[in-house]
Amino acid sequence: MSNYQNVFSEFTQAELKLLAQIKRFFERMQCDVELANAINQDTVPTEQMARLKEIGVTLDLSELPLALGDQKNLMLYLLAASRDLEAKLDSEVQQFAAKYPLLKLWGRYLAVLYRKRFDDRNNQGQEQAEALNAPFDAWRKRRIAAAKSELGFFGTQIDHPAFAYELSEGCSMGCWFCSFAPPKLSSVFDYNAGRDEALRILTHCINIFGKKTAGSALPYYRTEPHDNPHYIDFLRDFEKLSGEVLCTSTAACGDIAWLRELMEYYRRGAVRYHWPRLSILSAEMMDKVHSAFTPDELLHIELLVQVKNHFRPKVTGGRILAEHAGLRGKEDIDKNNIGMIPQGSIACVSGFNINLVSRTVMLFSPCYVSGKWPFGFRVFAVEKYKDSEHFPIVINEIIERCMPLSPPKERLVKFRDDIVFRPTEDGFDLATPNQLHHFKGKAKYGPLGELISEGVYTYEELMGTLIQKHRLNPIILRTVVQQLFDEGVFCEVW
Ligand code: SF4
Repeated sequence: MSNYQNVFSEFTQAELKLLAQIKRFFERMQCDVELANAINQDTVPTEQMARLKEIGVTLDLSELPLALGDQKNLMLYLLAASRDLEAKLDSEVQQFAAKYPLLKLWGRYLAVLYRKRFDDRNNQGQEQAEALNAPFDAWRKRRIAAAKSELGFFGTQIDHPAFAYELSEGCSMGCWFCSFAPPKLSSVFDYNAGRDEALRILTHCINIFGKKTAGSALPYYRTEPHDNPHYIDFLRDFEKLSGEVLCTSTAACGDIAWLRELMEYYRRGAVRYHWPRLSILSAEMMDKVHSAFTPDELLHIELLVQVKNHFRPKVTGGRILAEHAGLRGKEDIDKNNIGMIPQGSIACVSGFNINLVSRTVMLFSPCYVSGKWPFGFRVFAVEKYKDSEHFPIVINEIIERCMPLSPPKERLVKFRDDIVFRPTEDGFDLATPNQLHHFKGKAKYGPLGELISEGVYTYEELMGTLIQKHRLNPIILRTVVQQLFDEGVFCEVW
């Protein structure tokens, strides 16, 4: 059981009831522009109050700071609380928060939530260290380092599952913001006919990578779970085989009966998993969900508001790609004056995507969206398999081809395609969309950075030139190049 499932044990029943209502109130504020504007002016229309009551929000709203003038302190407080940093806030903001008991309760909830998530991420890191397949493990470490380097803060927040299983081809939802921009739904995996094949494929993954790694998976990717009528059967089968309870994020919130069935799957006695996560695409959808479920029923479930006028900036990939050159993350902030760090990608898997309908395997990992990688993930290999017997052959061939433990002698050594090389007085800098990496020491690096940035030398040629022509120490040089490789700064799209 993850730490995250223990979040609610830190609160009394009375506090949980209040938290469920506060959560619902904030959800509504994010969707309902009229309500948000009215509350900012301190005048909530009677019909809005009646609707809030109908959906279970009976709080004393004066215990929350909602007026427009309070917004700056409110945001500062929520930001600090959600990072468990409330104690470090300056006294003015602390005194402001102390006036509002419900805000303090919400802040405590955010702090616990953040702490538990952080603990889960740390535990996950330790579990991943036990992975069975050394080339895959090393490859994933490089990809995770690259994601941190490219995506900055958001790169540190990604869980990096190792697998994604797609049970459909295309997606029926066509969300306006979708960074993956999948084609329309064309077919779904026939679970009755293909269940045995799916189980054999999962078993191969467990045999090749170990139970923990194979179980670190998403059961959807560029697909909507609801599109496959046997989605919940797949979750059950997967759990039986690997022992892992997979997550669900869905935008199909109109099918209340299905949502109930899904929520039932994630309810285990006193333990309540925080799935499914619901993407709310319109105020009407929020209304429907709030009418169907009580605040208590949805306390542990995230409702991710994805309406068009929402304050959170979208990843400018897929359907809404707008590319800028160079330090893309920083330019996004300056040009749009949005004051928030752009996320850069919604991708999270560093490993294999397996589409069970088209029998396609793709090796991929998150990157900053660009004209070359418009969906926010970099693709290293795409192969078809014929059946479950052929599947492990394809996987092992990809491992052999794409996951060397050191830079291959015959391959060109180049920097990742998001990196801009900049020579400096004493070495060189590598600029990514979100970070600057400094490499100092002419004696150590010599013209190494320049030669790699030219992108025309194989590893063998590079080493030969630096050792013979520039007299660099071969032992130090090999160590330095291996370190750069391990840090994921080299292009591995071969
Ligand atoms: S966000 Fe998800 S549900 Fe929406 S179109 Fe993209 S893949 Fe489909």
